[in-house]
Formats: sequence, structure tokens, C-alpha cells
Amino acid sequence: MALIDKINDFAKTATEKTNNAIEITKLSAKIDSEQRTLNDIVRKIGEYYVAKIDSGEVLDEEVMAIYEGIIASRNSIAEMRAEIEALKAPKTNSAVSDEQKFCPFCGKPLDVSAKFCLHCGKQQP
Ligand SMILES: [Zn+2]
Repeated sequence: MALIDKINDFAKTATEKTNNAIEITKLSAKIDSEQRTLNDIVRKIGEYYVAKIDSGEVLDEEVMAIYEGIIASRNSIAEMRAEIEALKAPKTNSAVSDEQKFCPFCGKPLDVSAKFCLHCGKQQP
């Protein structure tokens, strides 16, 4: 191969490498975008079934076991919200009656005097 051909070949290879790198970057960005779309769809499917279970439907064992994690997280959130409320406004006896509490079973807000949860129906401690 003549020297000029070798130089041309080298330049062509370098250009191809650069173009390929640009194409790889573009495709990777598209994959990331598509992955976000996919995650969003999976989340929507999850929300659909969580809403069903929230409204009292019992789904298969595996799903119900995963749902336990949701209950645990909701309870943690409820406890931390209650902590924030306590930190914001220290309780006085007269103010207690119109405060809210959160159901320890489903995490939904309830009147502090509620004996049963309006959302999941569980008896309040
Ligand atoms: Zn509840």
C-alpha cells in the first residue's frame, strides 16, 4: 500500500471512530430516554394495582407480599410526618381535638379522635 493510501486509510478510520462515538452517544441517550418511558409505564401499572389493593381487593400472594412494603413505607412516612407536626407545634391539651393523626396501618390522615380508620377500616390504637 502506498504511503498516501495508508494516510488516507488512517484518516478514514479516525473519522469513522469519531462518527461511531457520536452515534453511540446519541443511541445511549435514546436508550436512557426509552428506559425512563419504560419505568414510567411500570410505575403506572404499579399504581393501578396499589389503588386496587387500597380499595380492598386481594391480589395474588406475591403482590400482597410486596404491598406489605408499601404499608411499611406509608407507616414510616406517617410517623415522620407526625414527628414534624410535633416539632412544628408542640401540643397543648386544648388543641388536641382538631389535630390529625395518621392510621398506622394504611398511613392515611385521620381525625385524632377516630376509633376506626375511614380508609382501611382498622381499629385505631
Ligand atoms: Zn387505615
